[in-house]
Amino acid sequence: MKICVVGVGYVGLVAALSFAKYNNDIICVDKDINKIKQLNNGIIPIFEEGLEELLNTCIKNKKISFTQDLDVAIKKSEIIFIAVGTPTNDDWSVDISQVIHVANEISKAINKYKVVVIKSTVPVGTNDKIKKIFLNNGLNDKHFDIVSNPEFLREGKALNDFLNGDRMVLGCESKRALKILEKLYRPFNTKLIFTTPQTAELIKYASNAFLATKISFINEIANLCSKVNANIETISYALGLDNRISAEFLKAGIGYGGSCFPKDTKALVSIGKEYNSSFNIIESTIEVNENQRLLPVKLVCEHYNDLNGKIISIFGLTFKPGTDDIREAPSLYIINELLKKGAKIKCYDPMVSNEIKNIYPDIIYCNNIYETVDNSSCIIICTELMEFYNMNLKELAKIMNYPMLIDGRNIIDMEKAKKSGFQCYYSIGNGSYDNN
Ligand code: NAD
Repeated sequence: MKICVVGVGYVGLVAALSFAKYNNDIICVDKDINKIKQLNNGIIPIFEEGLEELLNTCIKNKKISFTQDLDVAIKKSEIIFIAVGTPTNDDWSVDISQVIHVANEISKAINKYKVVVIKSTVPVGTNDKIKKIFLNNGLNDKHFDIVSNPEFLREGKALNDFLNGDRMVLGCESKRALKILEKLYRPFNTKLIFTTPQTAELIKYASNAFLATKISFINEIANLCSKVNANIETISYALGLDNRISAEFLKAGIGYGGSCFPKDTKALVSIGKEYNSSFNIIESTIEVNENQRLLPVKLVCEHYNDLNGKIISIFGLTFKPGTDDIREAPSLYIINELLKKGAKIKCYDPMVSNEIKNIYPDIIYCNNIYETVDNSSCIIICTELMEFYNMNLKELAKIMNYPMLIDGRNIIDMEKAKKSGFQCYYSIGNGSYDNN
């Protein structure tokens, strides 16, 4: 099938390559000329396992190409995916201007029947808005169908998730469009759910809000564990063995981040307000998360009354392992607060990109953990990168100015930290001590 994907970010690129893998012919369009140049040369602008190999295979087999020319790409394709960004406005509503802009451009380029698929996460009613744009631009039902097809992939496992997703939701009332998409998704190892556009649009927000709520829930239990000397890891394990609950998203820590959960939870509250439908649970989920990500700052401030001039070492900057994405990462909020309190920041993340260097040009980016802790008064683990699990804690404690560790992801055993010479250790509901 001939397919156009507009917007080759995390979602668009993974979708495009997955379709190309199954022998479809893909033209990708992006407004970012640097991305287009890199991709045509076989270079992936983001980090995501398995993408670079697949890109080079697809380029070699002439199954994928990248361009800025939307008009030509639309004319050559029978299915068009919109996968541009939908950021949050200050009032928590969703900024769908990129989607609207692209929809306008597509409607002007349509030469014969096309299926236009909205992959971006959009609020309820966006499908209808786009349909109106197409009709206002002189098109009718014979020229197009619009389908809502939200994406559920996780960064860090994006390709595998797309190829083997739990479900693929298709929101549309046109049998003609659904037949085409059913054929496209047939080789994928997934369950197809056919529904209305409104239901499809809402499924995405409901899924992310539910998962975010699970995280905030377990974090509140963890905070209680710290006070009553209970152990969150055992509690999470026991909860997870209950099939009705499931073990996923029950890991206590310093909260969720990334490009989806923070944005989509706020969007759901905003959509609720628009329809006079309250979302007390989601509002609390957001509030709990905002406090949780600053917990390490509270702990380090309780230990040292004054942080002025103290070096704090941040281990991991991305919002989770396996990605280079720092959008809404808890580390950024922690660094911000520590800087306000006069601390000096040294950080280490092998995935660190120029993006964060532009946000914080004055903090020190180190090449390894040992450089990062030199003269430091506290380590804060923000991301559970593999290399942090088996660090030489004795060596780290020796180099530090004062060996204090805040394990924001519960990956270091408390007894091991104690034996290695750490004078002060905090986890998230998994034990703590302070020898002072
Ligand atoms: P992204 O920012 O990584 O990519 C968006 C791309 O769209 C960029 O490359 C940008 O240059 C391009 N773009 C913007 N305007 C354009 C235009 N007018 N013409 C052509 N290209 C244009 O975003 P993303 O993370 O891939 O997210 C895309 C959508 O998918 C969002 O709605 C997001 O909520 C949703 N989503 C994201 C994830 C995720 O894990 N990142 C998962 C599921 C759903």
